Order: sequence, then structure tokens, then C-alpha cells
Amino acid sequence: ETSEILAEVAVLGAGPGGYTAAFRAADLGKKVVLIERYPTLGGVCLNVGCIPSKALLHTASIIEEAKDMSAMGVTFAPPEIDLDKMRAGKDKVVARLTGGLKALAKQRKVQVVQGTGRFESPNRLVVESPAGRTRITFDQCIIACGSSPMRIPGFPHEDPRVMDSTGALEIADIPKRLLIVGGGIIGLEMASVYHALGTEIEVVELKPQLIPGCDPDLVRALTKVIGKRYKRILLETKVEKMAATSDGIQVVFAGKHAGEATYDKVLVAIGRRPNGRLIKAEAAGVEVDEHGFIATDAHMRTNVPHIFAIGDVVGGPMLAHKATHEGKVAAEVIAGQPALFDPLAIPSVAYTDPEVAFMGLTETEAKAKGIAYEKGVFPWAASGRALGIHREEGLTKLLFDPETKRLLGAGIVGPNAGELIGEAVLALELGADYEDIGLTIHPHPTLNETIALAAEMAHGSITDLM
Ligand code: FAD
Repeated sequence: ETSEILAEVAVLGAGPGGYTAAFRAADLGKKVVLIERYPTLGGVCLNVGCIPSKALLHTASIIEEAKDMSAMGVTFAPPEIDLDKMRAGKDKVVARLTGGLKALAKQRKVQVVQGTGRFESPNRLVVESPAGRTRITFDQCIIACGSSPMRIPGFPHEDPRVMDSTGALEIADIPKRLLIVGGGIIGLEMASVYHALGTEIEVVELKPQLIPGCDPDLVRALTKVIGKRYKRILLETKVEKMAATSDGIQVVFAGKHAGEATYDKVLVAIGRRPNGRLIKAEAAGVEVDEHGFIATDAHMRTNVPHIFAIGDVVGGPMLAHKATHEGKVAAEVIAGQPALFDPLAIPSVAYTDPEVAFMGLTETEAKAKGIAYEKGVFPWAASGRALGIHREEGLTKLLFDPETKRLLGAGIVGPNAGELIGEAVLALELGADYEDIGLTIHPHPTLNETIALAAEMAHGSITDLM
């Protein structure tokens, strides 16, 4: 049996991009249908991404900080860990948020259809679920189908000891030896969690540095801390083979650290693949590239003018805040508003310990592209607040345009770097120069005053720190 629904706007996928677009379109007076294959709204971010990972990382940071307190004369007993409770605590946070979204959808009269959707024609989607089939005819559609973890063909992914990020967030147990394949943000965040729980961590990364694309100065500051905590960080090394044995997962490395080792568990975090090829976009005439990405213009329109796409499936940084902003733009354009996705910078944050946050131009990029810059680097070793919390590895680095003196990029390493980077993003969006930042009175003693101090370093009004 097939039921029929007429919608002005159909949104395919209820992640941060999709639910934001659906809510915004409804607020602007549209009749909206939101299609989601999973029983809860919120997509990867709320269910198996940003939110559960940060709940676990908070727990991890408390454990690590408690260890640090011995320097101040306070020693705690080793933590007793109840994994069932930890999991339940994390799940409660997720349930509260996904439940909240359900209520918000209802309040706005956004009709949620559960099932897997695919295009049937340029104006029709069909949604399949065990309960039956629904055909949705729409005037306009927003594709927000997100991305999935990438797998390596031939590796024993079906073995529960070989996890993806979703499996790792389940913390089924505390493995003795864990190999993280992929030194990007997701892999390193999970490394922080498992290390705090007592696991021996090794990280393997193909590229010559962790968090490829991030400023090497920031990565160096992070490595100062995790290099001591983790058993091995294998750069320029490839996992060539992986086999499930009764002793554990046997791994063969090639490259700089060629060799063989066995682990109790392995987390494969080598990146995410867009879901664009799974929605039969061709039936609507929407072009999808070989990787599964869907190209859009700055209004988030695909090559088919009444079909839009947002979030991880359109490429660019795969981040929730990028998806939500694009979602708003798509909904507003549909409602006839002159909206545009045109950010000067999108911040990225690794919520590791220490955190690494960056936005805008990096020094590596400036050098590669021949862009002139002036930099101000303020080492946290010169910050009273950073010393007080035992975090002298921290660093605040700002890049300025030597002509206009305006901020071009920023990078921060240290606890709360993710919170601190917001000021730099605002400064860049407002076209602030180093006097705007340096002469703004920041409270003392804080970590955020390192931003003003880095601006003063670039200006030359502070030269000698120590
Ligand atoms: P998604 O969140 O992927 O949502 C897409 C939705 O569409 C899913 O619910 C999916 O079920 C549904 N769907 C797909 N196809 C269909 C179909 N055919 N029919 C019906 N439904 C369909 N980002 C950050 O900004 N900060 C972080 O701290 C952060 N941490 C992360 C941690 C982890 C472990 C992971 C994996 C990701 C993290 N991310 C983080 C990335 C973030 O989760 C994504 O960028 C974000 O979720 C993308 O949103 P989206 O709306 O594009 O898609």
C-alpha cells in the first residue's frame, strides 16, 4: 500500500543540515516534509557524532585532569569506571536532544516521514519503510543525506573488533591495545577517550603529520602532549593488511614504520564518504560526482533549479555548523529571501586534549599560495592563567594582512581552544585588524587574553615575552 503526501518543501535527511532547513522553511510559512531513515532526528551529529563524542570527551578530560593534580599536591585514587553507566549517561544526553528535535518538528507542523527515500522523478520522492511506502510530491527539495564512515576494501570490517566511529562511541569494553587508523580529528578524539579509560593507544597516519591540513605549529603543540601519552604515533605509514585472528587484529604496516603488530581492537577513522549516490539522484536529473558529492551554487541550488543540497553531501569541511548554515540559506532562498552561503571562514575544532582549533588562512597555505602575511604567536607558557592550569603547551597564533593589518587566520591549541576560536572568527568576519583585537580590553587572567596578546605580538607592541 502506498500513501501519498503533497509538500511544498521535502527535506531528505534529518541531520543538522536537514532539520535546520526544515525548521527554517516551516518558520517561513512552507508546508514541509522531513524524511529520515532512522527513528530519531539529528543525523550523525546528534546520534553518533559531535554530541556523544563530546559527552565522552568531557569525562575523559576530568580523568586526565585528576591525574595532573598530583603536581599541586592532590592525588586521587585511580578512577573506577562503570561502562554501563558511562554509556547510559551519554545516551541520555543524545535522547534529550533528539527528543527536543521531535517536539520542535511537531510544534512547527513539520511532517516527519520515517524511511529510506530516493528520487523517482524531478518532483517526486518515494520513501520505503517496513510500515509501507510513501510517495511525496514536492515543489522544492533539499537534499541533506550526509555522509558515512569510509571503509577499506578487504579489511575485516564485519568483525566487531574492527570499529568505525559509531562502534567506538559504543565503548563496548576497554581494550588493552587499540590501533587508530587515521590521525584526523575523529580518530584523535576517540584516542583521547580511550586513553583516559586506560587503553594503550597507537595511531597510524598516511601523511607526514596528524590532522593533515592543520598548521604544523598547532599539531606540534598537540603532539607534545599526546606523544608522551600514546605508545606510538606512526606517520607516513600505511596499513597494508588487516586480519582477524583469535589473538586479536593482526596489522601489517608499510612505509616509514613498516612492520607487524596485533591489537585487541582497531578503529578505522580514515574519513567519510558522502551519501549522494544512495538516493537515486539521477531520476531527478541531479548531478552527483564519482565520490558521491553534489555540487551547488552559493544559494545551495544543484544543477536542477528547484532542488537544493546542503551539509556533508556538498563537500567542503564536513562539519555540523557548516551544514546548519547551509540549511538556513537553502530554506531562505526557497522562501524568496536573498540568502547566500558566503562565509569568510569556517572554524574547525579537534576536541582532543589539548584542543586544537583553527579558522581562515593557515601559514602553510599562505606559503604555498604566496600570500603575504604577518604573524603573531603567543605561547601559553607566558600566560599566568595557562600556567595555573598546568597547560603551558598551549599556543595562540594569528595571521594578518601586512597591507590592511586585518586578521586572515587563527589557530589555538590548549584547553577550550574550541570556545576561544569564536572570537577570532567574529574578528575576521568583521574585518578587524590587529589594533582592534589588541586594543580591546580582555579580562585578566584568562586564556582569551592570549588572542589580544598574539595581536600585539604581530603589531610589534610586545616583543620580549620571557
Ligand atoms: P548527517 O548528520 O550525516 O545526516 C544525514 C541524515 O540523513 C542521517 O540521519 C541519515 O540517516 C539520513 N539519510 C541519508 N540518506 C537517507 C535516505 N536515502 N533516506 C532517508 N534518510 C536518509 N562536526 C562538528 O561540527 N563538530 C564535531 O564535534 C563533530 N564531531 C563528530 C564526531 C564524529 C564521531 C563524527 C562521525 C562526526 C562528527 N562531526 C562533527 C561531523 C558532523 O557530524 C557532520 O558534519 C554533520 O552531522 C553533517 O550534517 P548533515 O546534515 O550534512 O548530515
